[in-house]
Amino acid sequence: MSTLRFNAVESAFKKGPVEVEKPAERITDFYGKFVFTESTMARYLSRDVIEAIRAAVERGVGLDRKIADDVASGMQRWAMELGATHYTHWFQPLTDGTAQKHDSFIEYVAGPGEQVIEKFSGKVLAQQEPDASSFPSGGIRSTFEARGYTAWDPSSPAFVVDDTLCIPTIFISYTGESLDMKAPLLKALSAVDKAATAVCRMFDTKVKHVYSYLGWEQEYFLVDEDLFATRPDLVLTGRTLLGHESAKNQQLDDHYFGAIPERVAAFMRDLEFEGYKYGIPLKTRHNEVAPNQFELAPIYGETNLSVDQNLLVMSIMRRIAHRHGFSVLLHEKPFAGINGSGKHNNWSLGTNTGVGLFTPGKNQQENLQFVTFLINALMAVHRHNALLKASIISATNAHRLGANEAPPAIISVFLGKQLTEVLDRMETATSDQAILMDSKKKLSLGIAQIPEVLIDNTDRNRTSPFAFTGNRFEFRAVGSMANCSSAMIVLNAAMADQLNEFKINVDNRINKGESKEKAIFEVLRTYIKLSKSVRFDGNGYSDEWKAEAARRGLDCETCPPRMIKAYASRQSLDMFCRTGVFSQTEIEARNEVKWELYTKKIQIEARVLGDLVMNHVIPTATRYESLLLDNLCKIKQTFSGKQADELSRFDATLVEEISGHVSGIKAEVDQMVEARKVANRIDDTYERALAYFETVLPHFDKIRYHADKLELIVDDEMWSLTKYRELLFIR
Ligand code: ADP
Ligand code: MG
Repeated sequence: MSTLRFNAVESAFKKGPVEVEKPAERITDFYGKFVFTESTMARYLSRDVIEAIRAAVERGVGLDRKIADDVASGMQRWAMELGATHYTHWFQPLTDGTAQKHDSFIEYVAGPGEQVIEKFSGKVLAQQEPDASSFPSGGIRSTFEARGYTAWDPSSPAFVVDDTLCIPTIFISYTGESLDMKAPLLKALSAVDKAATAVCRMFDTKVKHVYSYLGWEQEYFLVDEDLFATRPDLVLTGRTLLGHESAKNQQLDDHYFGAIPERVAAFMRDLEFEGYKYGIPLKTRHNEVAPNQFELAPIYGETNLSVDQNLLVMSIMRRIAHRHGFSVLLHEKPFAGINGSGKHNNWSLGTNTGVGLFTPGKNQQENLQFVTFLINALMAVHRHNALLKASIISATNAHRLGANEAPPAIISVFLGKQLTEVLDRMETATSDQAILMDSKKKLSLGIAQIPEVLIDNTDRNRTSPFAFTGNRFEFRAVGSMANCSSAMIVLNAAMADQLNEFKINVDNRINKGESKEKAIFEVLRTYIKLSKSVRFDGNGYSDEWKAEAARRGLDCETCPPRMIKAYASRQSLDMFCRTGVFSQTEIEARNEVKWELYTKKIQIEARVLGDLVMNHVIPTATRYESLLLDNLCKIKQTFSGKQADELSRFDATLVEEISGHVSGIKAEVDQMVEARKVANRIDDTYERALAYFETVLPHFDKIRYHADKLELIVDDEMWSLTKYRELLFIR
C-alpha cells in the first residue's frame, strides 16, 4: 500500500507556520554581524593592516607574511568571539555549489605535555592544500601536477557559519591553472575594469576604476519536506522524472504576486533575517508564476561579492527551509508542465566616480558615453552569442532553454522602442548631421536627447534572454542552480575584449586626424550595423523567430554537449587569451569537466527513472490490473452471454490499457539500458556526452508518457508516488 505517501500528505497538511521571532535589535544593528567587513576590521586590525588589504584588493599588491599574520590573528579573534572553533577555505569547484573542509584552530605548543592553543596564522589564511583529488579538473592536475591549492581572495570578506570561519578562496593547480569559478571571474573583472576605464577616460579623466555589478533574482520552489522525501527522483536528481500534471496548475495565473502562503512567509522572514546577518541585502520577495514557486532578490552589488552572496544564500536557504519543514528546490525544472526556475543576472558597469555606464545621461556628452557602452555590449553579445549560451547551459538548465520556455536557446538582445530609434538615427545620420559643433562649441551628435524616463521603462519583453532594462542588462538565461560566475566570466571578458578593440579603432581614427567625438561616433556606427542581427524585440518563443535567427546567422544549437563546444571555438579562445581569462589548456580541461558532468547527470536520472518505473509504477499497475481481473472473473461467474460482456467491457478495456503501458515501459527501459551500455563504452568525453543526449535521453519522455498515463488509470489509493497536486499545492 502507499502508506508512505498518505502519511506524508497527512503530516504536511497538519503543519502550520513556524514562529519566527523578530529580532529584538533593529536590522541595521545586526546587519553583517557574521561578516568580517571593513568596519569590523577596524576593531580588530590596525590601520596599516587595513590599508595593506585595501591595496591588495584594489591594486593586486601582494600581502607580506607579517601583514597576513596580523590579519589572521585579528580575524581569528573576531571569529572566536562569535563562537567559531574551526576555519575553512571556502571555494567554488567546477561542480555546482561550494566546497569546504573544516579544520580546528587547535595546535600543539612546544614543550612538555600535550598542551594545545588556538592558533590561526597568516600562512594558513593565505593558502591551503585541500585534498582535492576528487574535485573535477578535466585532467589538469594529473597531466601537470598532482596537487592544487586554495588561496585567499581578500576582495570577498570572510564570514562565520555556525562554528566555522569561512575564508573565500580561489582554487588553482600548482602550475597556476584555475580549477574553480572564482579565479577566472576575478581575471574577467580585472580585464573589464582595465578596458572600460581606458574607454571612460576618453570622456572623463577622473575615472580610475570601473566595477562590474550584479543583481541576481533567485527563483526557487518550496515543497513540504515529508512529501519531498517520498519522491526518490526529487531526492536524487532534484526534479520529478514522472508525474501527471495536476488538473489545476498555473492556468489561472493566480499565484504570481498573490498573497504569500503563511508557512512560506515565515520561511522568507527567517531567511531574510539570516541573510542580513551575513550582510546580504535581501530586498524583494514574491510568489512566482508556478504554484509553490517563489523569488528572492537582493540589492545589486559588486559582481565578485554578489556571486559569493548568492552561493551563500543558496546554502542558507536549504538550512532555513528545513527549519520550516520545507525542502527548497533550486533545480531549473523540477516539474513538467509548469514554469521552471531561472536566476536573472542583472548586469551593469559603473565608475569609481559613481556613474552607471548603462544609465542614460543628462546631456549629449554623457549620452555619447552611454551609447558607447551600450553599443559595445551589443557587439560583445553579437560576437559571442554562442559562447554566452554555452556559459549558461547545463544538463538541468537545458530543460528551460529551447524547451519552449523562457528563454529560447538563441541569445538575442532586447532594446525597446526608444533605444532602437536612437540607434537607427545614429546609423542613418550623415556624418555632417552627426557631428556638428555650434558656435558655443556645443556638440550635436545626432543622438536625440535620451529621455530619463527610460530608467523606469516598463517596456519589458519577458521572452528575451538578454534585455536592456533602463540602466542595466538582464541576462535571463542563467539557471536557478548555477553559479552566476559562469555567465559573469564570459560576459565581462567579452565586454573587456570588445572595449579594447573599440579603443584601438577610435585611436586609429584620431591618429589620422579625426576629432575624438567623430571617431567615436563613426566606430559606433559601424558597430550598430555589424551587431544588428543580435537585436530582436519580438516574441522569442515563436517559431518564426527560430527561422529568422537561423537566417541571421545566430547560434541556434540546442544540444548541450554541442553548445559547450563554443568555448573552444577559435573566436572564443582568442578572446580568452587576449583578456587573460583562460588559457587554451584551461578551456579544454573545463570542457572535459562539463561533458563529464552532463553525462553523469543524465546517467543518474536514467537509473532513477528505471528504478521508479520498474519498482514503483509497474508493480502498482499490475496489482491494480489483477484487481480488475478478479472483478472480471466475478462478473463472468455471475452473469453470462451478452450481459457479461457488457458489464465487463470497462474493466477489460482498462486491463488492456494497463498491459499496453506496462509493456511500453518495459520495452523503452530495455532500450534505454542498452543505449547506456553502448554510451558507457565510448572513451571520448564529448562523444559520450553526445551519445547520452542523442540515444539515452530520448527514452525519458517515452517512459514518462506511459507512466503518467498509468497514474491516471490506477486507483489513487494504491499509487505510491506523491502526486503533482500534492507536491505543488500543500504548503
Ligand atoms: P524585476 O522587475 O526584473 O523582477 P527586481 O527589481 O526584482 O527586477 O530585481 C532587479 C535586480 O536588479 C535587483 O537585484 C536590483 O538590485 C538589480 N539592479 C538594479 N539596478 C541595477 C544595476 N544598475 N546594475 C545591476 N543590477 C541592478
Ligand atoms: Mg527580472
